[in-house]
Amino acid sequence: MKLFDVYPLFNINIVKGDGVWVWDDQGEKYLDLYGGHAVISIGHNHPHFTEKLSDQLNKLTFYSNSVINKLQEELAVKLGALSGYDDYFLFLCNSGAEANENALKLASFHNGRAKVISFKKCFHGRTSLAVAITDNKNIIAPVNAKEDAVVLELNNAELLEQELNKGDVCAVIVEGIQGVGGIHTPDPEFLRTARALCDKYDAVLILDEVQSGYGRSGKFFAHQYADVKPDIISVAKGMGNGFPIGGILIHPKFTPKHGMLGTTFGGNHLACAAGIAVLEVLKLQNLIENAAETGRFLIENLKKFPQVKEARGAGLMIGIEFETPAAEIRKELLFEHKVFTGSSTEKNVMRLLPPLSLGKGEAALFLEKFGQVVNKQRI
Ligand code: PLP
Repeated sequence: MKLFDVYPLFNINIVKGDGVWVWDDQGEKYLDLYGGHAVISIGHNHPHFTEKLSDQLNKLTFYSNSVINKLQEELAVKLGALSGYDDYFLFLCNSGAEANENALKLASFHNGRAKVISFKKCFHGRTSLAVAITDNKNIIAPVNAKEDAVVLELNNAELLEQELNKGDVCAVIVEGIQGVGGIHTPDPEFLRTARALCDKYDAVLILDEVQSGYGRSGKFFAHQYADVKPDIISVAKGMGNGFPIGGILIHPKFTPKHGMLGTTFGGNHLACAAGIAVLEVLKLQNLIENAAETGRFLIENLKKFPQVKEARGAGLMIGIEFETPAAEIRKELLFEHKVFTGSSTEKNVMRLLPPLSLGKGEAALFLEKFGQVVNKQRI
């Protein structure tokens, strides 16, 4: 049997990781400024993470959601404390798309409506509803198509009110910082207006923090820069540092009912052990503050390159925009300088999404290699 060929692959076989570094099967060492799609939060193979997972592996790997799981409760308490959302509920699932699917489902159960508003260039995952609410026709199969999905211009409060005023909107979903779409941050004022409008028109405000959450932006959640409180927040990626886990944080106004949401694997014992280890390390090593500081250092220095049209984002979620496509620069960084970076659906934008443990020394090393590449390129 062969693999279904849906991923364009670099011909590199990564077999080992440690902190912000990974190694291939030839022993070649790479600096990871990509974090495997923004997933590695506390660093590759963090010893505390490995120990927690190994301990749990030796006790119990799985039992279903039909019995008490104290690890879920511990995870919820620790997540509430570190994120500032200790009065919210937590529902656990397995991925970012699933988190958004559950967020939208819960919103719809809550107000009985079906129309969803999202924003241009957004990405919310690959499940049916998550793709249906994007403006990327390439990922919407006919079976996914949703008639009442409305995709608006980001930061246009007037358009948002026009749509909400129709009185039939179930939810507004927006990324804390748009990731796949090229690192675009909603204006804080726009988020505050969206909050007020959702209240006014009885719609549910969902913040997709799957990529921008868990400290990546330099705050626990990117929307905390705007000082708004969403009704539902979706999380995944950095939550498990590579172990598949996702979830939604739910405002206390929502009333749970048995059977309204559910999953077989969500919140399993191993996933919770991973999730707890991540929260403990984020706190103990002050990784959120580190992301803010190292991110500032990177953005400040990236802006000094004349080849960089714009360096934007927050914390360690950075977009570097060039006048021309970024692919060649990324390729050269990877194959000549052994540095992983990320792409975006905006061809001229390269993304940096390193582990939140990236230090200034490693950031400076990246800048040096970046300089060597862009100074050579005719851009
Ligand atoms: N939401 C955002 C903002 C994302 O960036 C992604 C993945 O890139 C998803 C949702 C989907 O997450 P997953 O691939 O875990 O389903």
